Amino acid sequence: MSLLELLSMSQAEMGELLASWGQPAFRKKQLFSWLHQGTPFEQMLNLPNALRVRLRAEASENTVSVLETIESKIDGTVKLLYRLLDGNVIEGVLMRYKHGNTLCLSTQVGCKMGCAFCASTLDGCVRNLSAGEMLGQVVCANRVLGEGERVHNIVLMGSGEPLDNYENTTRFLRLLREPDGVNIGLRNVSLSTCGLVPQMYAFADEDLPVTLSVSLHAPNDDVRRKIMPVANRYSIEELIGACKNYIGKTGRRVIFEYALISGVNASVAQAHELSTLLRGMQCHVNLIPLNSVPERGLQGVSEREVSAFKAALEERHISVTRRREMGDDIEGACGQLRRKYIANTENE
Ligand code: SAH
Repeated sequence: MSLLELLSMSQAEMGELLASWGQPAFRKKQLFSWLHQGTPFEQMLNLPNALRVRLRAEASENTVSVLETIESKIDGTVKLLYRLLDGNVIEGVLMRYKHGNTLCLSTQVGCKMGCAFCASTLDGCVRNLSAGEMLGQVVCANRVLGEGERVHNIVLMGSGEPLDNYENTTRFLRLLREPDGVNIGLRNVSLSTCGLVPQMYAFADEDLPVTLSVSLHAPNDDVRRKIMPVANRYSIEELIGACKNYIGKTGRRVIFEYALISGVNASVAQAHELSTLLRGMQCHVNLIPLNSVPERGLQGVSEREVSAFKAALEERHISVTRRREMGDDIEGACGQLRRKYIANTENE
C-alpha cells in the first residue's frame, strides 16, 4: 500500500482499515487530517508511536511530488510539474487572484478526447489519475504556497477529461469538501468537460454542485465536428439538453468555454448563431484567446476580432467575458509543459 491509497480513502474507509488494526474510531479523523495536510507519518504527533510504526511498515511514504516549479514574471502564476509514483509526469497551474489562490488540476495523464487545438491529447491518454493523485496535487500546491497560505479554488481544467474518469473524479470531489481535510467547498470548484452527455446527466444527480464549464467552442455541429471528435458522438442539441438538466438540478448557471480560432469559429455571424443557441439559458460565455500550440497549426484571432465577437454576443444579451491570459510566458496552455519536459528528457 502507498500513502496515495490512503489519500484516496474516505474517512469511513480509513476507519475500517484502522479498526482492522485494532485502533479506536477517533483515530480516523486524526489520520485523515494529517494526510490531507501532507504531514509525514513520523510527525503525526497525536498518533501513538506503535500506529506510526505500523503505518510506516504498511504504507510507503511516497506520494505525488513536485518535480519543478516555474513562476511567471508577468503575474506570479506558477506552473507545477508533478511526478507520480510510476514515473509519469503531470502538470498544473497555480494562479493568484485577488479573490484567492486557484489551482488548475489534471485528472488524467494525457487525454483521449482528441480536440484539435489541445496539446494534452497529442499522445493520447496514458491512464486515469486516482482520487489520491488528484488530492495529492492540492496537498503539494498548499506546500508550495507555504505557511499561512492555501489553495481556495480548484478548476478541473488541466490535462484529461474529468468525466471520462468519473469514479475517481467524484470520489475526489467528496474528499475535497471534507471539513477535516483540505476543506474546499464545491462552490469554489469548477469542472470542465468537453461534453460527455450521459456522464453529465449522471453527474447532475451526484449532489456535487460544482460550477460546470462546458467546452463548446462552436455555434453548430458542423464547426464543432471539425475541431472536437466528441461532437460526432453527441450533437449540440443533446449537449444543451444535458446543460439545462444540470442547471435545473443544481440551480447553478453553466459556463460555456469558447476558444476563438481564426477562420474556424470566430466570425460575427457565428457569434450571432451562438447567441441564438444560448438564448434564454442561465449561462455565461467565457471567450478564451487560443493559446497557439505549434503542433496543431491553428491560430488565434486579433484583439479586434475578440472585441467584435464579444460585442455581438452582448448586443443579444448573452453574458460574456474574455478570459484573462495568465502565465503566457510559462507555457500555461494545457499539456504544453509536460510535453516539453518529456521531449527534453527523451533527448538527454
Ligand atoms: N477535458 C476538459 C478539461 C480540460 S481543458 C474539457 O475539455 O473541458 C480546459 C479548457 O481549455 C477547455 O475548455 C479546453 O477546450 C481549453 N483548451 C485546450 N487547449 C487550448 C488552447 N490551446 N487554447 C485555449 N484553450 C484551450
